[in-house]
Amino acid sequence: MHIHNVDLHYHAGQEREPGTTVSDYLEHAVVTGRRVLGITDHYGLYADPPRPDKQYLYERSLRGLRAYRDEVMDLAPAFPSLMLRFAPELSPRVALDEVPDEVLAMSDYFICETAFPAGSIAENTAATVQRIEQVGRFVERTGKPAFIAHPFRSSANYRLVKRDIEPWVSALAPRPALDFAPEELTRFFLLDVAEIGATSAAYGVPLEVNGNTHYRMLCSNLPGVLQMLYAAHCLLQEQGAEFVPGSDQHGFRRSVGRVGSYVPFDCFQVLGLGAGDLPFLQRIGVPQTA
Ligand SMILES: [Zn+2]
Repeated sequence: MHIHNVDLHYHAGQEREPGTTVSDYLEHAVVTGRRVLGITDHYGLYADPPRPDKQYLYERSLRGLRAYRDEVMDLAPAFPSLMLRFAPELSPRVALDEVPDEVLAMSDYFICETAFPAGSIAENTAATVQRIEQVGRFVERTGKPAFIAHPFRSSANYRLVKRDIEPWVSALAPRPALDFAPEELTRFFLLDVAEIGATSAAYGVPLEVNGNTHYRMLCSNLPGVLQMLYAAHCLLQEQGAEFVPGSDQHGFRRSVGRVGSYVPFDCFQVLGLGAGDLPFLQRIGVPQTA
């Protein structure tokens, strides 16, 4: 099995593209090489009150979440090449102590989002560290595996997507040797990267290498930016952090490249990690021989 065969963050629920089915999403997973597939949806789309102006594919309730999960699992026999797991995505607004037992029972693992307030580096780091600690305690209490989703998404948004790209970022020279000092990475990502890695290692909470974040960085057209993302993952790894692969794909419309996301196998190549080097897979019951 290769890294691109493992996608632990694949949306196919409330946000499905109009006119598509769960079955279409599973078929797309098969033809794009996915084998271990963590099916997710935002838990808030079931737990928060419905918006009156919106229509939902599933009832916004635990019953709706159950219906989505059952629909996925009932399709499993039709997709024998897929190892399906169900993994709700919990936003930082979800109090982890209040996740209902029923949700714990129906889930194989959890995808825990992190976001930083775009404050000072100290504030952003503290918020991320606190989230990792919360997730560590949640895993200990519930026995359910979990990982931190897209640790660098807020950084990518801040640097490239939601604000103007600053001149010093545009001027970054390519550095194929990835020889960035930790301070440079901290400045760019607005996070103490080494501290995040050390906290992740200390609490045994893996960090996701997220396809959507990689895609955003790649679309900056700045090699130095992507190389900094690689270098940041190397620094996390030096601190002992464990990684999981996830595309975070929401849709595809059968046209790869328009809206699809990929499992960032390139970053794993830089890290020197293969599918056999992912302890998280054993925690979710994927046999090592798969
Ligand atoms: Zn997601």
